[in-house]
Amino acid sequence: MVRVVAIGECMVEIARPEGAPPRLGFAGDTYNTAWYLRRCLPDGDAVDYLTALGDDPVSEEMLGAMRAAGIGTGHVRRIPGRVPGLYMIHTERGERSFTYWRETSAARCLADDPAALAAALEGAGWVYVSGITMAILSPEARARLLAALGAARAAGACIAFDPNLRPRLWEDAGTLRRVVTETAGLAALVLPSFDDEAAAFGDADPGATAARYAAAGAEVVVVKTGGGPVVTLDRGGRGTVGCEAVAPVDTTGAGDSFNAGLLAALIGGAGLEAAVRAGHAVAAQVVRQPGALVPVTV
Ligand code: ADP
Repeated sequence: MVRVVAIGECMVEIARPEGAPPRLGFAGDTYNTAWYLRRCLPDGDAVDYLTALGDDPVSEEMLGAMRAAGIGTGHVRRIPGRVPGLYMIHTERGERSFTYWRETSAARCLADDPAALAAALEGAGWVYVSGITMAILSPEARARLLAALGAARAAGACIAFDPNLRPRLWEDAGTLRRVVTETAGLAALVLPSFDDEAAAFGDADPGATAARYAAAGAEVVVVKTGGGPVVTLDRGGRGTVGCEAVAPVDTTGAGDSFNAGLLAALIGGAGLEAAVRAGHAVAAQVVRQPGALVPVTV
């Protein structure tokens, strides 16, 4: 049995499709991956979500949704007086735009208690974090989380990291680059998206992204290219794995679900190329349906 702990922020999602009533949901990059991991892993494996929520009714509802999805909530911190972050997806002439209210969300306190972090990561086989997880934390909390990840790694856990670069969430570009590189250096698996990486780090091509993270200390790097071939780099060298051409309806959650399919396959013992194909197989189903969290067959 493997226990995976995903760490980050789950938000209230208000989706406003054109010509239809608004829909309420709960989503966020690392939460989406936890949600798909739960679907991709066998029942015997455990998926826990580590975040912080408030003591309000919306936080209660979110916790209920996590439990209903089969995700462990035993390490969710409760911060009296704080509330979850929120975002709205506005659609106009088929174009989606996202507006966020997350500056004071409870999740920003997820790494405030080092003892709670250590307890949550004890016995974890894999720990999954993203650049968004790091971005929303204070510099002190980032340092606490990095120390906890380092300790988990020393105790035998593997760290999986999607840089998921969102420059607007960071105080400045230099801090983004420094923290993302440091986190990747702890990781057994780094899952960057090339367009974001090129913008933030100036990488010339996906191979350069993979080489940069490998040089930072990452063991395996899988570079996503928005539906193009994925570039992999591990001790066996560089590889390319194409993906099936599909006409996407909504790419929200594509990368998150790809990461889950890939990680679940690796945990199940698949080789890297087969794991990438498993990631594509999950993501291909997700991009064909509207919404971040949709039914998939694994
Ligand atoms: P991210 O959201 O992290 O940037 P990508 O957009 O690169 O991730 O997509 C991740 C995966 O989702 C791809 O590797 C592919 O499997 C699937 N995917 C995304 N966009 C498309 C597309 N236009 N056509 C087919 N598959 C896609």
